[in-house]
Amino acid sequence: MTKFSDLSLDPKVLKAIVDTGYETPTPIQAGAIPAALAGKDVLGIAQTGTGKTAAFVMPMITLLGRGRARARMPRSLVLAPTRELAAQVAENFDTYAKYTKLTKALLIGGVSFKDQDALIDRGVDVLIATPGRLLDHFERGKLILTDVKIMVVDEADRMLDMGFIPDIERIFNLTPFTRQTLFFSATMAPEIERITNTFLSSPEKIEVARAATTGANITQSVVMFKGSRKDAEASEKRALLRRLIDDEGDACTNAIIFCNRKTDVDIVAKSLKKYGYNAEPIHGDLEQSQRTRTLEGFRDGSIRFLIASDVAARGLDIPAVSHVFNFDVPSHAEDYVHRIGRTGRAGRKGATIMICAPRDEKYFEAVEKLVQSQIPRRDNPLAGHSIAAEEAPAPRAERSSERSSSGRSRSRSRSGSSSSRSDAPRTESAKAPAEPVVEATPAPEAKAAEPRPAHTADRTSERPSERGTDRANDRSSGTDRNRDRGRSPREDKVVGMGDDTPSFIALSFDQRRPG
Ligand code: AMP
Repeated sequence: MTKFSDLSLDPKVLKAIVDTGYETPTPIQAGAIPAALAGKDVLGIAQTGTGKTAAFVMPMITLLGRGRARARMPRSLVLAPTRELAAQVAENFDTYAKYTKLTKALLIGGVSFKDQDALIDRGVDVLIATPGRLLDHFERGKLILTDVKIMVVDEADRMLDMGFIPDIERIFNLTPFTRQTLFFSATMAPEIERITNTFLSSPEKIEVARAATTGANITQSVVMFKGSRKDAEASEKRALLRRLIDDEGDACTNAIIFCNRKTDVDIVAKSLKKYGYNAEPIHGDLEQSQRTRTLEGFRDGSIRFLIASDVAARGLDIPAVSHVFNFDVPSHAEDYVHRIGRTGRAGRKGATIMICAPRDEKYFEAVEKLVQSQIPRRDNPLAGHSIAAEEAPAPRAERSSERSSSGRSRSRSRSGSSSSRSDAPRTESAKAPAEPVVEATPAPEAKAAEPRPAHTADRTSERPSERGTDRANDRSSGTDRNRDRGRSPREDKVVGMGDDTPSFIALSFDQRRPG
């Protein structure tokens, strides 16, 4: 079996790898690192969870160790589709470059241009960016891309999904023809194929198995659900979700709950909170500072349930997620693979449970076709129960938030036996501690009258709207500028650049390129 020490990585990178405790390269790393170190273009077909970020970060650091950063002329460029993913690449860079003096800048929307400009002016070795934000800097004349030796495109299929392909093509054309390209995508859609044929030169193709679909450590299941009445369906579906969560008991230490629409992300999060679950939403319309805070809370365990849209959750590295709930069947089958890939990481066990309503059945068929297996059906635990009774309004002390004054959270008190027939307000009301009511008691779910947050009420489209928003968020705007002024220290942290002056010896990259 290949060892990291066999891979001709910079000893400083090897030392940092020892600190992480990783012993052997993952298949994408074993395939991509030697090719990248040999100066070849790489086409990596791999999804998140396979170790693909390190597969390009480790050789990049090794290659960049032989050169010097110049003002406004980054030597390498990593493009990622979302801010979170870009921030994650930056974290990987910090991990593996900690014994080097290489510098980086993270260019993402929602972070001050001024700070980012200052870093670029000083000269950075690695620029990690979302495409729109990078082009903004370029258009402001602050950035010169003619010295880029290595360009990485991460999650190209998601770039395609979010409408970033024209930006990517433009950026490719702004960088030198002689650059080395490391290109990663979970799937090879025809448009992605076209881009790779145009911009990659005889790439080494490394394809790794879809870990999530073959992972025996992930237990998958689906509940076929039909509402008793059309007007009760939404609230019944949320009741089912709560029941499914409760039935998992202590095995469910934390979970990501995916919804197809941002409106539902908000509604489900609000509903779970109303029922005393420790839940927070994350989607592209939320302020970056809030997204960052929520993610940190989920990572450190102070938030138990993350209610997410696909785009917001894409590529997030949260190593210990016990469960993934699909509140909806994703309308793009490949998102199923990405969603369930959030659990069962690094060899841990994971469980995924999906709710499939009749209108989702066509999507469900596509999912089963893609994963080439039948997802085991599980009975609807609420079938035959009187949901109306279960959901009937009951007097209860309402907890607006699970967070205690210390900022940490308590986990929800359980109803105990999974055979308890009705879990929600009845049980909760019996158990709800006599906390002061801090906000008006929400409308009972049975009436499906949960107020939709006003700001989401007019948004009905799902992915396109999210794409549009994320794309828009990626570009500078008046809002961005306002945000810049009111920036919090936490947001400053996202910039996360080292101030080190590079002190390595300049050697031409071209020496490393074949031919
Ligand atoms: P990625 O596919 O880049 O999102 O990485 C998924 C997870 O795998 C991250 O938590 C990494 O820290 C972890 N990881 C990366 N390389 C290795 C390795 N060689 N052995 C074990 N875990 C790794």
